[in-house]
Amino acid sequence: MGAPLNICLLPGDGIGPEVMRQAQKVLDRIAERYGVTFTCHEALIGGAAIDALGTAFPAETLEAARAADAVLLAAVGGPKWETGNPDDPRPEEGLFAIRKELGLYANLRPVRAYDQLIGASPLKPEVVRGSDVLIVRELTGGLYFGKRDRTYDVPGAGPGGAPGQYAFDTMEYSEYEVERIVRRAFEFALQRGKRVHSIDKANALGVSRMWRQVARGVAEEYPQVEFREMLVDNAAMQLMLDPRQFDVIVSENTFGDILSDEAAVLCGSLGMLASASLGDGTALYEPVHGSAPDIAGCGIANPLAQILSVELMLRYSFGMQNAADALAAAVERVLDEGYRTPDLADSHTDPSKVLGTEAMGDKVVEFI
Ligand code: NAD
Repeated sequence: MGAPLNICLLPGDGIGPEVMRQAQKVLDRIAERYGVTFTCHEALIGGAAIDALGTAFPAETLEAARAADAVLLAAVGGPKWETGNPDDPRPEEGLFAIRKELGLYANLRPVRAYDQLIGASPLKPEVVRGSDVLIVRELTGGLYFGKRDRTYDVPGAGPGGAPGQYAFDTMEYSEYEVERIVRRAFEFALQRGKRVHSIDKANALGVSRMWRQVARGVAEEYPQVEFREMLVDNAAMQLMLDPRQFDVIVSENTFGDILSDEAAVLCGSLGMLASASLGDGTALYEPVHGSAPDIAGCGIANPLAQILSVELMLRYSFGMQNAADALAAAVERVLDEGYRTPDLADSHTDPSKVLGTEAMGDKVVEFI
């Protein structure tokens, strides 16, 4: 048995602790099956941290995250902390802080159309069937982090030439930031379908023209990978028209944010989508969904996105491809055998196979 793998668990708020418990059961089973030791340390983030310590991202949490081999987060937020007072701490501050502190510049969101859930997507089955896209979004640069300002009472900026407000945000990237994210996308493509689409808006933005030039340079180093360029407006349409043409999509922060939510439609359910955020050190894994305060405490939350986040952690942080494959296969088998949490169930679901959070976690464990 090798050295223990340290995992920092951040259950957060709402359904977070409920789905995190299922991920822990899965980790226990993987440990038993594959002869590894996971040492898990829980820390506070989001609303839970605000309640206990008055801040969404306590120093102890940063320390625990930095000391870990990987971080597994559930979700943060909820109406309890939406006070309306701009000076009060907000749960989401914890998310931004941990991404920044760990230098997590690559956000990966795999989106697969599960055959078993094909009816859950609002798109036609013949369009979505077989779709399997990995979106690689740049996470620490671009419009969300560039120079910005908002000024009040600017002469002539209001309606009819009256004084009014003026605001701007700036999309900024260095060549280095583009190069490292595009390279990551090519490395993932090598392990998958060997095709990269680089998405930009080169017909309108100078940043995109630089992005294109840098991406072409990286592409030359990967002759085994097919390289395509696409303007973001067309990409948004193509994702809905013909999603199977995509394997890996790489994009800057804002475009990637929008395209990854759009792509979620292919899968049909938020409860199935996992994500990974990678930098050069400790990586973070989390489901795409939020804290679902409307169903928190009801025992019906779908734990599969959290469990699939564990799959990504095994793959990308621990290099445990066999265990990751076994976990993915267990989730497939659960779906094949007709088990569904309420969010995945429809009129064709056998009511005896509609499971709560704990029972769904147990089924996955049973099939690993
Ligand atoms: P949400 O993802 O929490 O919920 C949207 C809808 O999907 C709800 O009806 C919810 O019940 C359902 N849902 C979500 N996850 C589910 C699951 N695992 N199983 C079954 N149903 C599920 O988004 P929201 O309602 O917009 O936000 C709620 C809170 O979560 C807010 O405070 C928001 O800021 C926060 N949030 C956090 C994250 C994060 O932690 N990364 C992401 C998004 C939203």
